[in-house]
Amino acid sequence: EIEIRGLHKSFGDNEVLRGIDLDIGRGEVVCVIGPSGSGKSTLLRCVNLLEEPTAGQVFVGGTEVTDLDVDIDAVRRRIGMVFQQFNLFPHVTVTENLTLPQRRVLRRDKVEAFEVARRNLERVGLADKADAYPSQLSGGQQQRVAIARALSMGPEVMLFDEPTSALDPELVGDVLAVMRQLAAEGMTMMVVTHEMSFAREVADRVVFMDGGVIVEEGPAERVVGDPQQERTRNFLMRIL
Ligand code: ATP
Ligand code: MG
Repeated sequence: EIEIRGLHKSFGDNEVLRGIDLDIGRGEVVCVIGPSGSGKSTLLRCVNLLEEPTAGQVFVGGTEVTDLDVDIDAVRRRIGMVFQQFNLFPHVTVTENLTLPQRRVLRRDKVEAFEVARRNLERVGLADKADAYPSQLSGGQQQRVAIARALSMGPEVMLFDEPTSALDPELVGDVLAVMRQLAAEGMTMMVVTHEMSFAREVADRVVFMDGGVIVEEGPAERVVGDPQQERTRNFLMRIL
């Protein structure tokens, strides 16, 4: 579903990604871990072209998104992204947060957009917050709204960049539960996270990045439970 080939990204003379090759199959959940500055966010942002790679190719569902002739908007519609900061529209209700992008970007009519919004709010357990404003919700609820908003666009893959890092500890579980359910439903997911228990339970594969390269990848029980590389061991020792 996602194929990354020889991906490089530099900012000026700072080479942040130094040749990333990664395949993520349909329905697969891959967790990306690694120290601050290792290039995790840049990698995700290259997949949906929030950053333009310096070299290499990215394919999503067989379409080369790094092809210069590609319709970037069409590509982004197929890729949902959830950030650490939820970026909800503050001045409209939860429902409108979900319907406005559908109407603007997908040109859905009002009835359909509302129906899709209702379904996805139910999916994240927030049907009762449909008429609330974002400021009336907890951080965890806002993040679940952000997930529902991304899902309302009908993406083929979902990218998550540290979705629980800005949350108070007691709110993390509800967001992870929604992600766990999404994984069980067969969504293709690429998740940058420091939640090792989530990675161990949910990820089909864990990728450890350091210095812009993939140092080690494999099943969670091996990469997290029995890392083969010194750099992976050092990182895990520091965060666990
Ligand atoms: P963290 O765990 O702190 O989120 P990360 O692994 O996500 O780190 P990135 O955000 O991908 O790391 O950043 C990797 C490097 O790229 C850093 O050195 C950062 O300063 C640099 N960088 C990222 N975005 C830009 C940008 N827009 N312009 C210049 N440099 C950037
Ligand atoms: Mg980051």
